[in-house]
Amino acid sequence: MKTEIIKINSRNPEVYKIREAANIIINGGLVAFPTETVYGLGANVFNKNAVKKIFIAKGRPQDNPLIVHVSEMKQINSLVSEIPYNAKKLMKKFWPGPLTIIIKKSKLVPDIVTCGLDSVAIRMPKNKIALKLIEQSKCPIAAPSANLSGKPSPTTAEHVIDDLNGKIDKIIDGGKVNIGLESTIIDLTQNPPIILRPGKITHKQIEKIIGKVQKNKKEFIKKPKSPGMKYKHYSPNAKVIIVKKENEIKEVYKKYSDKKIKQLKYGSEIEMAKNLFKDFRDADKKCYEIIVVEEVEDKEFGCAIMDRLRKAK
Ligand code: AMP
Ligand code: MG
Repeated sequence: MKTEIIKINSRNPEVYKIREAANIIINGGLVAFPTETVYGLGANVFNKNAVKKIFIAKGRPQDNPLIVHVSEMKQINSLVSEIPYNAKKLMKKFWPGPLTIIIKKSKLVPDIVTCGLDSVAIRMPKNKIALKLIEQSKCPIAAPSANLSGKPSPTTAEHVIDDLNGKIDKIIDGGKVNIGLESTIIDLTQNPPIILRPGKITHKQIEKIIGKVQKNKKEFIKKPKSPGMKYKHYSPNAKVIIVKKENEIKEVYKKYSDKKIKQLKYGSEIEMAKNLFKDFRDADKKCYEIIVVEEVEDKEFGCAIMDRLRKAK
């Protein structure tokens, strides 16, 4: 299949280009598009065959459910039978934005989207291209990250091209994403609600709005609440070494003096999140044997960065 690659202005998306992409979604095809977190690979949520193509293109295990993206609150009515009060409060505060909310699903959501679970993960992205694409497609869009399963989530269109060129209908190039790590996922079907994946919206920010929320503890990871969590996250070919302090880096260079070492260094957590997945991909391309990186405080947004770093080890 020939994949069309098209640049779209992220600040002021060209309407005719969005329409062309939306027509692909309407006709059951796949379009990769930028969101503020990472690039997504989208299909019409109500078209089972189209959703099936996502699993095939990514090589995604059949029991790893997808996140459904909406552009307006009205669209949620077709996805759930009831919106719990806490969900309404979180949507009001954080949408559009990097928070995915899991609630009980309606019968209209095909099983292939949720992998047979009776709940559905929903989010409204904060990216003009994504919002316009959903709006013009006139349906919610099921979209996991637009990478091959087992690779880091894509943060530029080049990453999507590297992984999916020739396997999907279209790739929208809207430049580098803003955040660079996947959305926070909160499961509201549990009491107290539980954060299944840390992200830019923090535990503290969520507790401020809805009260007690559980952080994802080790026992949940051993016996995952969501099937997707049992899969090994991407780890680069290089061995990832996380050091506590900068001076420990010297020791790594000493200990592995015969190896090709890449040191990752960032000025802030924001910058680190934005570049981490890109730097993993670059290190693999350049055949580094060791990646050394200094840890950040396992607190607030740092939790999300440390989560991805630990999973890359
Ligand atoms: P991705 O979009 O590739 O970041 O993956 C989405 C992740 O959301 C999956 O791996 C699951 O862990 C999680 N997820 C999606 N739907 C559900 C659900 N209904 N219940 C629990 N977790 C979910
Ligand atoms: Mg993913």
